Amino acid sequence: MSIGYWLRHRPEAVSEPLRGSHAADVVVVGAGFTGLWTAIALTDTDPALRVVVLEAETVAHGASGRNGGFCEASLTHGLANGILHFPDELERLEREGIENLDALIAFTREHAIDCDLEETGTISFADRPSQVEEFRAWVDEAAEHGEQLRFLDRDAAQAEVHSPRWQAGLVRPPGRDVMLDPVKLCRGIARVAAGRGVVLHEGTRVTGVERRAGGVLVQTATGGSVRADHVVVATSAYSGWLRRLRPLFVPVYDYALVSEPLSDDERAAIGWRGRQGLSDANNQFHYFRLTADDRILWGGYDAIYHFGSRVGPELDERPETFERLEQHFFATFPQLEGLRFPYRWGGAIDTTSRFTVTFGQTLGGRLTYALGYTGLGVGASRWAGGVVRDFILRPDEDRLRFRLVTSPPIPFPPEPLRYAAVQAVRHELDRADRNEGRRGLLLRTLDELGLGFDS
Ligand SMILES: Cc1cc2nc3c(=O)[nH]c(=O)nc-3n(C[C@H](O)[C@H](O)[C@H](O)COP(=O)(O)OP(=O)(O)OC[C@H]3O[C@@H](n4cnc5c(N)ncnc54)[C@H](O)[C@@H]3O)c2cc1C
Repeated sequence: MSIGYWLRHRPEAVSEPLRGSHAADVVVVGAGFTGLWTAIALTDTDPALRVVVLEAETVAHGASGRNGGFCEASLTHGLANGILHFPDELERLEREGIENLDALIAFTREHAIDCDLEETGTISFADRPSQVEEFRAWVDEAAEHGEQLRFLDRDAAQAEVHSPRWQAGLVRPPGRDVMLDPVKLCRGIARVAAGRGVVLHEGTRVTGVERRAGGVLVQTATGGSVRADHVVVATSAYSGWLRRLRPLFVPVYDYALVSEPLSDDERAAIGWRGRQGLSDANNQFHYFRLTADDRILWGGYDAIYHFGSRVGPELDERPETFERLEQHFFATFPQLEGLRFPYRWGGAIDTTSRFTVTFGQTLGGRLTYALGYTGLGVGASRWAGGVVRDFILRPDEDRLRFRLVTSPPIPFPPEPLRYAAVQAVRHELDRADRNEGRRGLLLRTLDELGLGFDS
């Protein structure tokens, strides 16, 4: 089984599974970005707090170890989605997002976390005429919201990154995103947390949480338990174990390939001197970037939902998707014909109907959850960890009043309607892509309602 490029090196050490009965102030379930940033935020505010992190597998085993490594400032799954859902608070959310990204970068430097962080900016490419006009219009609209973009015509786009597909480009200069190695970052955060006394147990699947006098009891499949004042659920697309969270998200499988390192000739044949994070502008889009050792990571397009919101290691590989991704790659970069892709993997994305993280509390305020970044959680999870901390330790904080924090997304219906709805929307998105971006009745109705499906 290929677990992926970022996870190719085993961690230096893996912690012991939880056994026996323990006590803590806060238990965090899940050692991806959300869980670990929460542990950092909690101990920033109260260094004496006893925090225990329980992880079913190993640090970064979930989406945090399988993503593209695009770390963006946006907390709203991009500016356009923010305009749609949170126009009244967007200015503040944008500011918080930029501050969050700056703080994330500063954290890596302060703690010497070498995660191959590159401040390159991004380029989005149009490969259909309708997208070219949308790009032109978007430059002005984005500027009204403080985001400075630069339009590239066909020649300029192709000069930047050599592909016959490009008809235009949209450059976002450095400042609102960085490219990084997500596993190095995640393991680095875990190291800092451990240095602060946060106790991590890997190989420890949480099976249930019960309310107990003055707190909660967290039980695990290893037979251990922890009594705590609070529990934080940070299990992302795997959150189906908690019934209450099931309506909030659908797990959507997204896949990626990583090539062998490019030779000097191959490197010269594609341009891409700025090493920016790249994507195309279709509904079913590709994202691609260079790794520190000059491989190409190429992912996206297929977004696969399995009936019953199923997740599991057997879904991490999908040969037909890998094949499709390769075909699309060589259509984009025919000059690299013959390049091989030794790494291929998939991961589950926690998609909500409005594409943004959602928060909530249950068990009388003793259980707090954060999930739903919909494919843009590498940066936003740090902010979410701070919000979760505020729920527990700083309930008067202003940002707990953001509508993004207080109001839940519209829930997904139960099966079999859920599967039918997701498949119908996917079909319509594909049709719109093949039809010059023209959206049919279903998509237009969902747009009106502010509902969607994305990865
Ligand atoms: C293929 C792919 C590409 C992506 N690309 C990008 C990108 O380029 N940029 C971006 O910003 N975002 C991207 N994302 C999304 C991003 O990776 C996620 O939003 C982010 O990592 C979510 O972090 P998390 O900690 O909430 O979840 P996860 O990293 O999934 O962590 C959840 C953890 O909980 C553990 N767990 C689950 N159940 C239990 C249990 N019962 N008990 C104990 N532990 C449990 C899991 O093992 C896992 O380690 C991508 C995601 C995927 C899958």
